[in-house]
Amino acid sequence: MEVLRLLFNRFFGHFWTSGPSDKNKAMVEYLQQYGIIKSKKVAEVMEAIDRGLFVPAGNPPYVDSPMQIGYNATISAPHMHATCLELLKEHLQPGMHALDVGSGTGYLTACFAMMVGPEGRAVGVEHIPELVTSSIENIKKSAAASLLKEGSLSVHVTDGRLGWPELAPYDAIHVGAAAPEIPQPLVEQLKPGGRMVIPVGTLFQDLKVVDKKLDGSINVRSETSVRYVPLTSRAAQLHNY
Ligand code: SAH
Repeated sequence: MEVLRLLFNRFFGHFWTSGPSDKNKAMVEYLQQYGIIKSKKVAEVMEAIDRGLFVPAGNPPYVDSPMQIGYNATISAPHMHATCLELLKEHLQPGMHALDVGSGTGYLTACFAMMVGPEGRAVGVEHIPELVTSSIENIKKSAAASLLKEGSLSVHVTDGRLGWPELAPYDAIHVGAAAPEIPQPLVEQLKPGGRMVIPVGTLFQDLKVVDKKLDGSINVRSETSVRYVPLTSRAAQLHNY
């Protein structure tokens, strides 16, 4: 009997083991049911990158809510990550360049890297060095580890308001913290035909979609009201002013 049970588990056990990736899959299914994940592409990447590897221990990683990550920062809620991936997906095709400003835990940077693939470039910029170090550790445990190793994915300590000119222009720019206004260097680093998604405002914020047309002109629209931590100086963030 025991042998039969072991054999059965050996072949079919993975269908019902409740490991972290099953919970991650359930989170993706929930976001699909509510129409937040609309495409196969976004569902696939959010299934591949296990959110549980990016949320600090002691927090429920698959609950649809932002979580504290230290340094007065948060990892955005899964529905916000999904919304931004949906808005950017056409600009995250294999071979494209993507910039993630305020990369925090590295979760979205890893998703971007999976989508643009080994021929593309995904760059995270974050001004808290400790978060950059832990994000690299998180990514190393994830499905994006080989992209980090081979160099198509990188994370850097810098003031994200300046972007990362070395790999510009970018097809996709995501900003994970709210700016009082759209930083000009980021507009300059956007490729004609490219798209930036950025929360703008202080008390009340809008998620703005900034499209740079092929002639270089800019079109800005508001997608939805949001609440993000501020895109600010390191001192202001750490001392809460
Ligand atoms: N998108 C990330 C983190 C969101 S929190 C995630 O979901 O994990 C916003 C992040 O922006 C924080 O990590 C904060 O430290 C960072 N940040 C704020 N101002 C910044 C600036 N000027 N330059 C770079 N990073 C900044």
